[in-house]
Amino acid sequence: MVIKMQMPLSFAADERLPEILDRLSLAWPRREQQHADPLSQLIFMLVSADTPSAIALAAHQRMRLRYPRWSDLRDVAPEVLLQVLHGVERAVEKAVTLPRVLQAIEDRHGLLELDFLAGWSTAAAREWLEELPGVDATVSAATLNFSTLRRTILTMNARTAQAARRLALVEKGAPMSALDRQVMNRVPADWQAKEVASLYNGLRKLTETYCHQGKPDCKRCPLNDLCPTASAKSAQVICFPHEKHNRERPSEQTVPQQSLSH
Ligand code: SF4
Repeated sequence: MVIKMQMPLSFAADERLPEILDRLSLAWPRREQQHADPLSQLIFMLVSADTPSAIALAAHQRMRLRYPRWSDLRDVAPEVLLQVLHGVERAVEKAVTLPRVLQAIEDRHGLLELDFLAGWSTAAAREWLEELPGVDATVSAATLNFSTLRRTILTMNARTAQAARRLALVEKGAPMSALDRQVMNRVPADWQAKEVASLYNGLRKLTETYCHQGKPDCKRCPLNDLCPTASAKSAQVICFPHEKHNRERPSEQTVPQQSLSH
């Protein structure tokens, strides 16, 4: 399929996006999986932030084996919880946050579960989640999109944002906080949670493989004929100021083939 590259000038649907998703899905297929409940997904997102997938999954598994009930995790002392979080980035901070977030959910909702959000609008659910300790826009979007809630909302983080900027899926110079909504304004009207999750997964893989920090490998990128940066004289060099620089390391937010996604 040949598509004439076009720089989007407004928030009209971007005609490149179906082709971008097709190519990303071909390069990095994502198997549909059983989805976790929203509280499990949220806790996993908090554990896995800034941490390679394999380490995060192992730590999360240790944690759930040690604390099978949410009330067990709510009541554990941070210094004790820290013992099962070894290898996880910012483990000390997370050992404090995880019990606090569970306590906050119980204080506000009365129960340790988030399934009640199924009856809420996506915007209201997101706002409620982002008032919890340690829950930012990335965690709230992933909880709503990857869990059984299956909301059509895009997860965006610093790395996938760079690919979105280079592909001109967002306005030039747009703040990080606006990027997910700007991309969502451009996706086809019939896209649902599955397509949006696959787009996130593809952008993450693209960033790890070709569209990395510094000079991207546009020659080998499967999107190079759709990307304005590739057609520029020299590809834009972008750094990720708040992240560790290691191209071999998986991104901090991944969509593995388990029931928990990040
Ligand atoms: S063509 Fe280059 S800049 Fe564009 S998405 Fe691919 S790697 Fe990134």
